[in-house]
Amino acid sequence: MDTNTNFIIEKRLHRTADNLKRNNINAYVINNLEELHKVIKSLIAPNDIVALGGSMTLFETGVIELLRNGDYQFLDRYEKGLSPEEIRRIYLDSFDADAYFTSTNALTIDGMLYNIDGNGNRVAAMLYGPKKVIVVVGINKIVNNLEEAENRLKNFTAPSNAKRLNLNTPCASTGICSDCNSPDRICTDYVTIKRQRTPNRMHVLLLKDEYGY
Ligand code: SF4
Repeated sequence: MDTNTNFIIEKRLHRTADNLKRNNINAYVINNLEELHKVIKSLIAPNDIVALGGSMTLFETGVIELLRNGDYQFLDRYEKGLSPEEIRRIYLDSFDADAYFTSTNALTIDGMLYNIDGNGNRVAAMLYGPKKVIVVVGINKIVNNLEEAENRLKNFTAPSNAKRLNLNTPCASTGICSDCNSPDRICTDYVTIKRQRTPNRMHVLLLKDEYGY
């Protein structure tokens, strides 16, 4: 990476991390995936119950494989062959996990997490339940403010996910949001996390590279 670009990225990551800490959210600037896995292992213990929200970032960063291959009680929502009732049970059990892994759809420089969810299980677990919430975020998710966050989600993140999931929504063909009434609509819950009341519950792991949508 060009040294000047690297300088700007470092500044952006550290400014965001400092603001998260002011909001009672632990934050870590992480250089590479090896370091990411090391930090994750330091945050969870053998035999911990671990769970996760739907996330491309967790696939791309190898976090899901790390949890599958580690010495953890992993509530794996992606395990092949699960019935809808078994998936629902995993979602409910996830609320009592020792650690819940997720990404965030957007993260403002002043330290707020912004998410749009379809089922609501992911944002619900981020808000309450799991003892720890570990959020893995690529530099591409950092935005200047909530307005930019909403714009990013409506016109990039949600259409990308609708396309990936082959949903019958207008955005899956146009690439932009038209605030649809489709039965397949994936935008139902719009949630901003401003702060944590419980110290050391939420940990945001900030990566220099781009991951997820
Ligand atoms: S509201 Fe509908 S059109 Fe807009 S992003 Fe969500 S699914 Fe797509």
